[in-house]
Amino acid sequence: MSPRRATRLRAAPLWGAAVALAACGADPAALGDAGVDAPVDAATDAPDLASCATSDACDWLAPYLTEVLGTLTGEQPAAPGVTITRRASSGERAIARQYLVDELTRRGLAPTLHDYGSGQNVVVQLPSTTGADLPRIVIGAHFDGVPAGPAAADNGTGTAIVVAAARYLAARPRRDHPIDLVLFDQEEVGLVGSTAYALALRDAAVAVDSVHSFDMISFDGDGDGAIELWSPAPELEALYRAHAGPRGIPVGAVAFASSDHQAFVDRGFTTVGVCEEFVAGDANPHYHRATDTFANVDLAYMTRVTRLLLAVLEDRATTD
Ligand SMILES: [Zn+2]
Repeated sequence: MSPRRATRLRAAPLWGAAVALAACGADPAALGDAGVDAPVDAATDAPDLASCATSDACDWLAPYLTEVLGTLTGEQPAAPGVTITRRASSGERAIARQYLVDELTRRGLAPTLHDYGSGQNVVVQLPSTTGADLPRIVIGAHFDGVPAGPAAADNGTGTAIVVAAARYLAARPRRDHPIDLVLFDQEEVGLVGSTAYALALRDAAVAVDSVHSFDMISFDGDGDGAIELWSPAPELEALYRAHAGPRGIPVGAVAFASSDHQAFVDRGFTTVGVCEEFVAGDANPHYHRATDTFANVDLAYMTRVTRLLLAVLEDRATTD
């Protein structure tokens, strides 16, 4: 997360309502020089579903989280001759952003860029499968990192989880609510990308059901498997608790402002931030250090929590 509370930002160029809706159409030109590979996996909903009937019975989930997190942190190349080592400078973020666009495209999704001036969020919009006209669910995580190191925990973990969530949710047979999955730029310099996205939603009067922001799901030093909800809307706290309880995952709830969820809380959206026990004293000790590496992420904990998050999101996206 960000080291400090966001300051109020000047309005950046934002989406209009028409543009926001048009983004569903995934105009390839909007991606600029995307240079993406041909989708290897387009129309793979059926195979994905066969190997991933539920979040708990999803064969590809654990290796996929490892692959995406590993790529974001330089364990393997992002493309031939391209390795992501940092995600702080404009150039570093451009390389990471391109990888995310390429990876989502390879999975048959249609990412677009939300360009707000000083940066660009990566967005995947999934329409309702039932034609229901319901408010959208926003799922986000920041993909930028501090300059100190590879920023694996903060926030390669949240980024990998949102990429996996896009793949998972796109393959569900039914989805009543439309969903925006957003990889926010420039969180570490003041919640810039998330603020731009929240303002775009508000200014376009987009109906939003709920906002779920993931930041640092990487560490469980005391071995209790717990998560922490940041400034949760009461109905979302209840939803997460209802799914976490049967899984034996303890849930804490705290007021905390220094991450992307706050950009949405400040604008009145029904919001929750999800993290490891950062405030409660079981935070990754490598936070914002050069040692925030892939090797220092607890992949088993990250995967267990991701299965919970996907179950929560799938529940929220269907209305029976
Ligand atoms: Zn973060």
